[in-house]
Amino acid sequence: HRKPLVAANWKMNGSQALLAEITALLASTNWSKIDVLLCPPATLLPGLAATGQCLIGAQNISQFSSGAYTGELSASLLMEAGAQYVLIGHSERRTLFGESDELLAAKMQAAIGHGLTPVFCIGENLQQRQQEKTEQVLAKQLAAVYAAHPEFIAKSVIAYEPVWAIGTGEAASPEQAQQAHASIRQQLATYDAKAAAAVRILYGGSVNGKNAAELFAQQDIDGGLVGGASLNAEEFFQICQSAK
Ligand code: 13P
Repeated sequence: HRKPLVAANWKMNGSQALLAEITALLASTNWSKIDVLLCPPATLLPGLAATGQCLIGAQNISQFSSGAYTGELSASLLMEAGAQYVLIGHSERRTLFGESDELLAAKMQAAIGHGLTPVFCIGENLQQRQQEKTEQVLAKQLAAVYAAHPEFIAKSVIAYEPVWAIGTGEAASPEQAQQAHASIRQQLATYDAKAAAAVRILYGGSVNGKNAAELFAQQDIDGGLVGGASLNAEEFFQICQSAK
């Protein structure tokens, strides 16, 4: 049994007011059957930690432990601010900020080495899907981290986020998503079968209050990573409910 996880990625959005609204709404329900994770901008992490609600995640991490790296945040700084999880490899980091497979492997090492749980994000773009290279792309992104460190699988959450579905309103169909999740689990099983069966694989990309339940019902989909819809307290609450 894999406990469902619903995660909010606020990206560079939100506010203290939204944090107060969402945590108050979450506090009205018992979530023992699922894990709820909020990843707000780093400046809001201590405020979220003070509420004692839900799991807490950062959106980015430095590959370095400390030192002269102006503007960067290390694993230990993030943990001191309250983070337990961290997003690594989001497509926006890969494409807009040029994060390579090698850099992401170093960030995974930094997170896990300090006791943060990474949510490792992978996904194909539209061209790759149209050329039927989806499974190949996913396998390469996974191999960049897990081939050398199969022991990281048991310490990770994976998020499958097809780039063409992010922020477009066009989510993958439940069948498309399930197929990708199954191939991810299969690829991970070549490194460590037991860990692959237990690792949570989240779907991300235009998840909303209407499509969440059907996506989360798929065999290899263990919850979601929600962007835009997580900025609406009621809708995020509804998405969490549909994972219970
Ligand atoms: P949207 O839910 O806005 O499509 O964003 C998905 C995402 O990138 C979450 O990390």
